[in-house]
This record gives sequence, structure tokens and C-alpha cells, in this order.
Amino acid sequence: MASLCDSHCHLADERIHADLAGVLDRAAAAGVGPIIAVGAIDTIETDRLTVDIAEHHAGVHAAIGVHPHDAAACDERRLDELRGLARSAKVVAIGESGLDFHYLRSPAEAQEQALRRHLELAASLGLPIVIHCRDAEQRLLEIVREIGAPSAGGVIHCFTGDAVAARDFLGLGFYISFSGIVTFKNAGSLRAVVPLVPENRLMVETDAPYLAPEPFRGRRNEPAYLPRTLEIVARLRGQEPAALAAIVSANSARLFKLSPL
Ligand SMILES: [Zn+2]
Ligand SMILES: [Zn+2]
Repeated sequence: MASLCDSHCHLADERIHADLAGVLDRAAAAGVGPIIAVGAIDTIETDRLTVDIAEHHAGVHAAIGVHPHDAAACDERRLDELRGLARSAKVVAIGESGLDFHYLRSPAEAQEQALRRHLELAASLGLPIVIHCRDAEQRLLEIVREIGAPSAGGVIHCFTGDAVAARDFLGLGFYISFSGIVTFKNAGSLRAVVPLVPENRLMVETDAPYLAPEPFRGRRNEPAYLPRTLEIVARLRGQEPAALAAIVSANSARLFKLSPL
């Protein structure tokens, strides 16, 4: 069966972890895999659990970091713990880090400081970075230009910016990943960006358990729903879903340096 890489989801979230075997079985049955599982939410325990899940499942790889919502907790000790966890061969990226000026759950200065530390950490480990950006595209671009994008590259996950921001991120070498938001009826301006991303820079993701695509909107999301998002992305680009699945999966494999199973 053709496989479709979920470039971003949160398997350590308790809503998913409580049902992990079922979630992974349904993903496999839906042709979804490999899966990039992102820790980075709440405490370092989420990162630990994510690495542990990846180490026990061949098709799961881990990204570790401190979410911008928790940026105030991104101190030296936390960064040291991340460095330790990154010794696992299943850790393929640093993140998600970035700026979220929509919710502002951590002060902007703390988010900016944490983003700088994550860019430096990714560069020093030779890993790509997973970026979260909400209503903060210009500031994020400034900081990436100031520090430099990691040489291993990165992805703007759950992209919600406009065409100009997409062009600027692409110009810095980033991949752009679309989530279930593109399936929402009120996402017209985001849908207009989908065909503008070059084929070799495009990814798709669930961001599960958040952002379930239509017709599952409002429910707990899981990787098995990813084909719904791929279908819409393929339609907006005038491409065949099966062909696009192979392309976005090859892009994920390239960025995250996934070895074939
Ligand atoms: Zn995010
Ligand atoms: Zn996420």
C-alpha cells in the first residue's frame, strides 16, 4: 500500500496515548506512515515519552523541544535534558519551537528567546527544526534571519500564513506543511496558498489530537484521518492524491533523513 507520512502529530498526548495501539493500527490500515511524533508540550516528560514511543515502533520518529506556549520554561536545564534525549537515533528534529502571538500563553520575549535557543540547538546537533508560527510571521522571519536557519533545514508546521509569508519561508529553505485547517470551509485564504508551494517543499500533517479535518472537525484527530487533508491539498493543486502522497512522503523522508523500513 502506498504510504503517506504524517509529518506532525502528538502521540504522547494522553488522548492519543491512552489508545496508542488502536491509533497506530488505524493509521497503518489507512496507509499512513511513517509518523513524526512531536513531544514539546507541557514538560520534558512528554518528550521522554515521545522518544520512548519512537524507540518501540519502527515507523515512528521523534521531534523534541519546548512549545512556544511553554517558552517561559525553556531554561538551560531543559535544554540540557533535550540534548541528552537527542542522543537517541529516533530523534530526527528539534521542535516544535516558534512564536504564537495569537494565544500569547508565554510572553513574547520568552518565546523569542526560546526560539533562538532552539535554532542554536538544532544547528549544533545537525538536526532540522520544526517551527510553530501563529500570527507572528514577520517577527519569526526576522529572528531566523538573525540567527540563521539550521543547515539541516526545517519545516513551518500547520502553516496558516499568507502567500507573502510562504514565499519568505521558502526563500529561507523551509518546507511548508498543511494541516486539516485546509479542509475547513472558512479557510479560503489559506487554500489559495496551497498551490503556490513548490512540489518539493510540501508536506501534510494531522497535528493530532488537534485540528481534525472535515468531516471529523471537532473530534479528536488521529493520523488515520490524514488522507482527508491530502485529498483536499491534491484537489487544490490539481494533482492525483496517490502521486502527491508519494511526493510529500519523499519530502518528509528527505528533511527528517528517515531511513527506509
Ligand atoms: Zn504547533
Ligand atoms: Zn504540534
